[in-house]
Order: sequence, then structure tokens, then C-alpha cells
Amino acid sequence: MNVIFLGPPGAGKGTQAVRVCERLGIPQISTGDILRRAMKEGTPTGLAAKSYVDKGELVPDSVVIDIVRERLAQPDCQNGYVLDGFPRTVPQAQALGEFASIDAVVNIEVSDEKLTARLSGRRVCLSCGGTYHVSTLNGATACEKCGAELIQRKDDKAETVLSRLAVYHAQTAPLIDYYAQRGLLKTVDGAQPMDACTAAILEALGEAK
Ligand code: AMP
Repeated sequence: MNVIFLGPPGAGKGTQAVRVCERLGIPQISTGDILRRAMKEGTPTGLAAKSYVDKGELVPDSVVIDIVRERLAQPDCQNGYVLDGFPRTVPQAQALGEFASIDAVVNIEVSDEKLTARLSGRRVCLSCGGTYHVSTLNGATACEKCGAELIQRKDDKAETVLSRLAVYHAQTAPLIDYYAQRGLLKTVDGAQPMDACTAAILEALGEAK
């Protein structure tokens, strides 16, 4: 099953993608994770992406389209995948349509108010991708899964969060109509508790047991 997770930053796409991919035995392809890794390693792609990512702007379409095209050609994607954070613009969706066949698009809905609180309190592990919220960390500063230090992403600082939400509404939200018109859209309430959200996604995908 080839699936796209669509939704604003902070909707829980990454967290839910990990859970759903585990359940379905398919890889999670997160363009944000790929770009952050490239930035950390200082590759040419990482250096080109850094100024955009740090400001909460979108990296040029051509860069992310090439990343995804190469990644989807890998053997582990042949039985399906979840795209998390791609496409984010109509041209990206059009390009994707030329090299992939998408079975479903899960739109995870959350209000802007809730997103702002989630994102500004988010802490992440750059080593394993683990995601936490300050409200449940009880002052802990290390990743529960791998022990690495937790950080606040530069683009999760309050001022950048607002511009990311604006970018989402202007450039990514039009994909809701784009995929609805193609009969692929399944909308899920992302404000409900994490387990309920996972169950709703699996049900929408016809995989609930
Ligand atoms: P994310 O982890 O999905 O929130 O992505 C973090 C940042 O990476 C975004 O704010 C963008 O700067 C960049 N990024 C990730 N995916 C894309 C994409 N599909 N198109 C353009 N930029 C992207």
C-alpha cells in the first residue's frame, strides 16, 4: 500500500507514520528527517536545504522531488510505504504522480491553536527521530529510546512555528482538494489521543483488526 500522510506541522504525521509503518511492515519516508540528516552530515543537499529549513520555509520542489524519487526506487519500498511530509505543494504532487501510484492519502486534521502548543513544546532526538513533548518529559533531557540528547528544533521556536503554519495554509492545504478530487482522501481527527488516532488511520486504510 502506497500512502501519503498529509497535515499541518505538528499534526502527528511522524508519530503516526512510525506506528502505522510498524503495523503494516512498510518503510516511513520522511523528507524532513532525510533533510535534517543531510544537514547534520553537511552533504551538498543538506547545505542547500539548511537556510530554508531553519526559517520554516519549503525547500525548492526540485530538491525534494529528486530525494523522494531516489528513495522510492529502493528495494524496501517495493511493497509499499508511507510518505510523511511529502508532497507539500501541488507541483510536488504532480511530479509524484509521474513516478508513483498512490493508494490513499490520510489527512490528519488539527486546529492551529493546538498545533502551536504542540510544536513549541516539542523536543526531538536527532539520533533516532524520537519525538516528545515537554509536558510529559518531567524535566528529562535524554531520549528514552536511545539515550541521546533531546533538542528543540530551530524551526519549532515560536516565531518560526507561525510562519510554518502560514506556509502550510498557503502551499500545502490545497493538496486536500487535489487528492479529494482524485477520490483518495481519508480525513482523520488528529486532536484525539494518540492510540485512537492510530486506530482511526488504520481503519481508514482498511487495515484495522
Ligand atoms: P518536517 O519535519 O516534515 O516538519 O519538515 C521540516 C522542514 O523540512 C520543513 O519545514 C521544510 O523546510 C523541509 N521540508 C520537508 N519536507 C518538505 C517538502 N516536501 N517540500 C519542501 N520542504 C520540505
